[in-house]
Amino acid sequence: MASYPSTLLTSGKKLVSSKSGLRMLCVNDAEKSAFEINEPNWQVDCEQPVCNKCSKKFTFKIRRHHCRRCGKIFCSDCCKNKLALPRLSFVDPQLVCTDCLHVAKKEISLYENLVPILTKGAEFLAKENQSVFCKLDVKSLRELVFNCLSPDGYLEGVLLREIESFQCLTDPLEQNVDGVGLVGVNIKYKSGVELKTLKLMVPNSIINRKDAVTFLLTLQKVVRLIFDSS
Ligand SMILES: [Zn+2]
Ligand SMILES: [Zn+2]
Repeated sequence: MASYPSTLLTSGKKLVSSKSGLRMLCVNDAEKSAFEINEPNWQVDCEQPVCNKCSKKFTFKIRRHHCRRCGKIFCSDCCKNKLALPRLSFVDPQLVCTDCLHVAKKEISLYENLVPILTKGAEFLAKENQSVFCKLDVKSLRELVFNCLSPDGYLEGVLLREIESFQCLTDPLEQNVDGVGLVGVNIKYKSGVELKTLKLMVPNSIINRKDAVTFLLTLQKVVRLIFDSS
């Protein structure tokens, strides 16, 4: 396994052998998804005489195990679960410590439950009440793209990693699915050296409103997750 060659498999991606296992990474760093994170640095064996969780002393019999999510050293009781780590692009499930178990589950849920809502997309009202369809680009998982429903309309894409702030606009008189009356968002993002603002409003039509609110609440969660882990 360790000598697996780093060869090209699919366009834009390559299989890389790391100390933990095989990872499927973008050939070009600029193409990596908004969710991808680097492998953690591994704690050095000699610097950690006891388990980070239960303080059991390591001996010839009680061996050290590195958590692949945080890189810290644990005993086999405190680092025994193998889980998929999609944000680290591992091909196979990896050993995680008990603290990282919930982090890994949350990240699996990101891919299984949240990302599909964003790639499905929803309709909004943007500048001058133009109808736009907004979705996360399914191929790159990096950029919000817009399809203006009027022929002369255009909105530039927004890279998720370039979002600086996400301000929810609420109206207590609105009865939306979230119960807080979300009517839109102001998104501040970097475009080159410029800081720009994008205002997306939930459309009035009852049919589109639920999708739009769900999309925005999901986007907020996802942006927070990216902020927290960068
Ligand atoms: Zn332990
Ligand atoms: Zn861990």
